[in-house]
Amino acid sequence: MVEKHMVSISNLVKKYPSGQEALKGVNLEVNANEILALIGPSGAGKSTLIRCVNRLVEPTSGKIIINGIDVCTLGYKALRMQRRKIGMIFQEYALVDRLTVMENVLSGQLGYTGTFKSIFRKFPPDVVDSAIKLLERVGLLDYVDSRADQLSGGQRQRVGIARALIQRPDLLLVDEPTASLDPKTARQIMRLIVELVIEYKLAVIINIHDVQLAQMFAQRIVGLRDGIVVYDGTPDQVDNSVLTEIYGEEDWDQGKKRHAQEEDDDEDDDIDQVE
Ligand code: ADP
Repeated sequence: MVEKHMVSISNLVKKYPSGQEALKGVNLEVNANEILALIGPSGAGKSTLIRCVNRLVEPTSGKIIINGIDVCTLGYKALRMQRRKIGMIFQEYALVDRLTVMENVLSGQLGYTGTFKSIFRKFPPDVVDSAIKLLERVGLLDYVDSRADQLSGGQRQRVGIARALIQRPDLLLVDEPTASLDPKTARQIMRLIVELVIEYKLAVIINIHDVQLAQMFAQRIVGLRDGIVVYDGTPDQVDNSVLTEIYGEEDWDQGKKRHAQEEDDDEDDDIDQVE
């Protein structure tokens, strides 16, 4: 049977051992080539949801079908194989500080769960070539041999992006990619992720707390509140009443205007410059 959607999540429940029910029956479908932003207040379950998709968090019940495979039922080996098709970008970059940029990117070839030892294995020349091309694409060619801990936050996230893409995934999970970055760098990083997702023809789920960034860059917005999907629609339909439904009472307009102004300023600056 051919699956209509790339990702199909049904009745997903996650109850942590503490008793906290982070997801209370989530249904969500993601199409190929779709750029989906997951928004919602802190504690809504965004991170839990994104991590259930590759089983970094084990779901309590429900189904997650990716390209026709129910990832919830996979044994360890099959799960490892499946994870290779799912790239992940983390908020805190999850780089190995004392390794070089190149070594960090190559470590992604063996999946983000690869052990520290994995980077000492030999990599075929075509993989190294791919790593160089990716590093050039994310603007870090001059930093190939730099140690990860010598880079700025934005540069570290660029390494994280290259590492996620080296394994040629068809689905990308992005967990708060800009939370540790200043607003301008955050926009540059979001722009880069979206450009690459389009170039590589990936589907992406981006967990992002910044509503304005989500509206600027995503094609579809899903709002999560208290473990339940409360909104699913296009960015331009996200108005104050939708935001109030997702977040509760708040004045959203001012932030929106500020970001729009800063976006214009970005265009005036050299936006391609790596910070
Ligand atoms: P978000 O990403 O939207 O901020 P999370 O998925 O991190 O939300 O958290 C959802 C809920 O689950 C919160 O109440 C949080 O405290 C709880 N939670 C998250 N991770 C754990 C954990 N490892 N153990 C227990 N509770 C957790």
